[in-house]
Amino acid sequence: MGEADAKEMQDVAKQRFALWREVIQAGDFIRGSVTVLRRPCTRAGCRLCREGKRHPATYLSLKEKGRTRLIYLPKSLIAQARQWVAEWRRLEGLLQQMSQTNARMLRLLAQRQSARRAGGKG
Ligand SMILES: [Zn+2]
Repeated sequence: MGEADAKEMQDVAKQRFALWREVIQAGDFIRGSVTVLRRPCTRAGCRLCREGKRHPATYLSLKEKGRTRLIYLPKSLIAQARQWVAEWRRLEGLLQQMSQTNARMLRLLAQRQSARRAGGKG
């Protein structure tokens, strides 16, 4: 293995370590999205429903076993839910980066193996 390869492998290992550190320091997260829906209520003769305006309310929408589920969000929890959703997206990006970094590492390891097999002394 050449010096340049050794240096690259070191860099990749460093990058992987930095990513791991970010991942384990991540906050709470939810895979879903915050959404506002206008739903009808159960009150008989409600003016808003009769006029088709219905009632806007904020929900966390998430998939469970292929089905969309809604969790009603009281005002006091909307910011919290948005933060957890944002954290999930950030983590997803981090994991994507880690996957790419690991692919680079695997490629370097494979190159080193074939260099050895070709009779090089390492
Ligand atoms: Zn109504």
